[in-house]
Amino acid sequence: MGRVIVIGAGPAGMMAAIFAARAGARVLLLEKNQEAGKKLLLTGGGRCNLTNTKAGEDLPAQYPGGGRFLHSCLARYGPRFICQFFQDIGVELVTEEEGRVFPKSLRAASVRDALLRELKSLGAEIRYCQPVRKLRLAGGKVAGVASDSFYPGQHVILATGGASFPATGSTGDGYSLAQRAGHTLVPPKAALTPLIIEESWPRSLSGLSVFAQGQIQAGRRKLKSQGQLLFTHFGLSGPLALNLSRYLEKGAAVELNFLPGLRGEELLQVGSTAAQSLDRFLPRRLARQLLELAEIPPQTKNLNRAEKERLEKVLFAAKLTVAGTKPLEEAMVTAGGVALDEVNPKTMASKKTAGLYFAGELLDIDGITGGYNLTIAFATGCAAGSAAGSAAAGEVLYG
Ligand SMILES: Cc1cc2nc3c(=O)[nH]c(=O)nc-3n(C[C@H](O)[C@H](O)[C@H](O)COP(=O)(O)OP(=O)(O)OC[C@H]3O[C@@H](n4cnc5c(N)ncnc54)[C@H](O)[C@@H]3O)c2cc1C
Repeated sequence: MGRVIVIGAGPAGMMAAIFAARAGARVLLLEKNQEAGKKLLLTGGGRCNLTNTKAGEDLPAQYPGGGRFLHSCLARYGPRFICQFFQDIGVELVTEEEGRVFPKSLRAASVRDALLRELKSLGAEIRYCQPVRKLRLAGGKVAGVASDSFYPGQHVILATGGASFPATGSTGDGYSLAQRAGHTLVPPKAALTPLIIEESWPRSLSGLSVFAQGQIQAGRRKLKSQGQLLFTHFGLSGPLALNLSRYLEKGAAVELNFLPGLRGEELLQVGSTAAQSLDRFLPRRLARQLLELAEIPPQTKNLNRAEKERLEKVLFAAKLTVAGTKPLEEAMVTAGGVALDEVNPKTMASKKTAGLYFAGELLDIDGITGGYNLTIAFATGCAAGSAAGSAAAGEVLYG
């Protein structure tokens, strides 16, 4: 029986190690931190939004980076498979609004600990404080990996994550390891990152969260997205801003509709002041701010045509200018990574180096918020682990 070496004990690496062991291989998991899953513990505000059951057939469309590549992997190891897997290893789940799935404990640690228990019961070995620095290659094949020690092995899964939140251990080490093995790197950049806004008025609403719709120009396409929007001391965050961020750079415009689904004529109540009318639909602070932007005193009754037009503009199409996005280090996810056309979409095997596999955020894949990024870590981990594990388990060792 051969051995599979997995580099990185994040969600992708732990899942890959479990599936390699279940396929019958011996497994060694090398992690550079003193503990597994440091980033996993931060997910979902510590509650771990581990997958999402809403999208159904549209699941690949939730990945602005890599959706097409994911079809077969998600068909096999998608949200339903992931939910069943966690229930089988003793993690009770709850599904919240918009299909977002969490552990019933609402503690990310219960997900991490269940993965570690399963690894232990399968006899997989984990070694901590092992920063892998080198892949040894021989004749176009993997021959082993080196941290402080050298570990020989012909089946290696790289699951070192992206380059965001580097304090968790995800410092982009896998990029240079993959490049040394002949892979092309799509330049890593921030995705799911907050927006710094030029205009000052959003800052005065810092801490307020509202449902809104955002529209931007992404190349030739107009993109619309809706969800919660959080005003911050530098601009905008929350799922709506995060999901649009990968398309935006300094100078870009964002158009916000604070009342999607409502029409202008439904807004103003006869006999009420402008403030009273808006308070029916919006938080008071936002309503006052929008009235100020439209230059309408709150106590105004019977708005004239020009006032109505100005009000509709700020309510349904408020324009903001992006001064920049928060850097990669502060992004929730890294877009870019190992180029997908050099990876087998069913097995996550390298098309460049025999015996090498990839899993998780290291790949050029990024999803929207709502559990879709952990879904990919888990699904690609299953695919890579099963393939590497079967290949290793079928090996006959002599001597
Ligand atoms: C604050 C925050 C909240 C998030 N919330 C959610 C959420 O609720 N739902 C969701 O779907 N996604 C969420 N994400 C995204 C999600 O956490 C990542 O997509 C996911 O962790 C990626 O998994 P991974 O295993 O590929 O990489 P990582 O989780 O980054 O794990 C990589 C592991 O590899 C190790 N490693 C790196 N280099 C080496 C090396 N040279 N040698 C050995 N080990 C190495 C690292 O120490 C780390 O343990 C969130 C991200 C952040 C930052």
